[in-house]
Formats: sequence, structure tokens, C-alpha cells
Amino acid sequence: MAWQVAELEKFPALTWDEIAPQASVAVRTALERVLETQDGACLRDEQRYVLANCDHADLLALLVAADTLRRDLVGNIVTYVVNRNINFTNICFVGCKFCAFSRGPREADSYFHSLEDMGRKSREAWELGATEVCIQGCTSTRFLRWKSCMAWN
Ligand code: SF4
Repeated sequence: MAWQVAELEKFPALTWDEIAPQASVAVRTALERVLETQDGACLRDEQRYVLANCDHADLLALLVAADTLRRDLVGNIVTYVVNRNINFTNICFVGCKFCAFSRGPREADSYFHSLEDMGRKSREAWELGATEVCIQGCTSTRFLRWKSCMAWN
């Protein structure tokens, strides 16, 4: 692990030509194909598996290739949007244990925001500079009724 951390941190300073000779043939072949086509979809499943499991010099090559491809495709300018995530409810009947967020409908801290609350939260976001809201929620059975309301308003 110590090798990885120290070595992997070097990747922004490396070029593909420097790291490619150190990579295994399988990894180098797959990455050269992606760099050539600029399309990861060109890989076969076996090649994807090799890349998903690579380590050491192969992992370093993967990082350098990904950074090279990113630079070639979109350059070095990073953009972002100010966004607010608004969860209209935390009530969920699935209880899949993926999140620590969901509540049963009778739990004291469960909620289901009204359309007015959602509008207020969206306006708050706008006033704070947001240009986008992401509205999401759990799988409450009330969602269908709420969705119908949204369609009509
Ligand atoms: S809210 Fe989503 S992730 Fe959380 S328990 Fe329900 S289905 Fe699972």
C-alpha cells in the first residue's frame, strides 16, 4: 500500500510515453486502444476486467491514460453549477439498508414536504446563487399522489 500511495501521487507529472513501457502488455494494449479511439466502449469485457483489477505500474498507467484522455477531450478548465438537493420525503417502504436516511411513515422524524415547501426551498436556493435543484426522495406510496399534484400545478 505504501508503494501505491507514494507512486500514485506522481501521476500528474508523468506522461503516457514515460509510464507505458512499465505497464503490462494487457493493460498497455487496452489503454492504447482507448487513447487512440478516445472511446472506452471500444474495449472487450476481458480488457475492462483487466483495467478494473490493475495495480502498481498498471494502475499508474491507467491514471495517466485517464488524465491524458480527459485533457485531450475537455482540456483543463473545470466548471461547476451551484445546486441544491431537495429531498421531498424521507419516507421509504423498501428499507434496503443502503442509506441511513429512510424512515418509516410513523417515525417521529419522517417528513413529506408540501409543494409550497419545495417551492420555498427552491427559491432559497436561487437566492443563494443556485442555478439548479435536484429533487429526489424515497419510495413513499404518497409519491404517486404528489406527482399527480405536480402535473396539475
Ligand atoms: S431511500 Fe432508497 S436507499 Fe434508502 S432505504 Fe429507501 S430505497 Fe433504500
